Amino acid sequence: MKLEARIVQSHGKAFIVEHEDGRRWIASARRKKTDFAVGDRVEVGVINAEQAVIEAVRPRASLLYRSDAFREKLIAANVSQIAVVLAAVPSFYEELLSRCLVAAEDAGIKALIVLNKADLPETEAARAQLAPYRALGYPMVELSAKQSIEPLKPYLVGELTVFVGQSGMGKSTLVNALVPEASARTGEISEALDSGRHTTTHATLYRLAGGGELIDSPGLQEFGLRHLDPQRLTELFPEFRPFIGDCRFANCRHDREPGCALSEALGRGEILAQRLQLLRKLHGEASA
Ligand code: GDP
Ligand code: ZN
Repeated sequence: MKLEARIVQSHGKAFIVEHEDGRRWIASARRKKTDFAVGDRVEVGVINAEQAVIEAVRPRASLLYRSDAFREKLIAANVSQIAVVLAAVPSFYEELLSRCLVAAEDAGIKALIVLNKADLPETEAARAQLAPYRALGYPMVELSAKQSIEPLKPYLVGELTVFVGQSGMGKSTLVNALVPEASARTGEISEALDSGRHTTTHATLYRLAGGGELIDSPGLQEFGLRHLDPQRLTELFPEFRPFIGDCRFANCRHDREPGCALSEALGRGEILAQRLQLLRKLHGEASA
């Protein structure tokens, strides 16, 4: 029997797929070397009440990659929004934030900055540090996951949001507050599919009571950007777009080349040094 289903949990080679009627199966790929991710809409062949085989994947509206592998692996498909969880304490890396914003631009999806731990006095400084990113057009919501997650809820309605954050930012606290079953579910599946394995790189899709959906992948801090097309890198920085085509050399890497429109814009204080630094770094990584 063939059915349309969605991957709601990934454990690398084993997946949990769910039919719209709520039935779930443990599924693996028919062919080796096929890569699937949470959020994928797939055609499955049902073997029995517990097991199914993934036959084919439907075209994806968006695709995000993991960063920690030599060969980039998929982490989530059909996501419509990346929520970057930040907090003033411990301090966060601005570059990681920017990398997530670049991943969102590349995937053609929204990005949302979530400033957590708003109850801490240090939040004032973090808010100031994030002001330039809000000026770029990225929305930001402030909250204290320990107190109330209400401010975040409206941003999740109608979206499939993937949560990322450096460790310590409060991502688990946030996700557990949004989906109370998150910790329990993780345990259940880990037992079934990860038995004996030390590290698990799973991702799970949860439905929210308010209407939206979220994907949580414990430990997910950033996305893989190695697949980016070097020719397109500048486009992934919205504030750099007006300068595209203005550099003297068509293949400008915006580093030390004469007549670089971005270096000149930096000199005039029109763009942020750390953003141009990241663009240069990505050029290096893309050609590595
Ligand atoms: P994760 O590593 O991002 O998953 O972070 P956790 O959810 O484990 O939280 C890291 C630490 O921050 C824990 O000690 C939490 O209790 C704390 N924390 C989480 N949210 C808040 C918050 O809104 N305010 C404060 N003050 N602490 C928080
Ligand atoms: Zn240039």
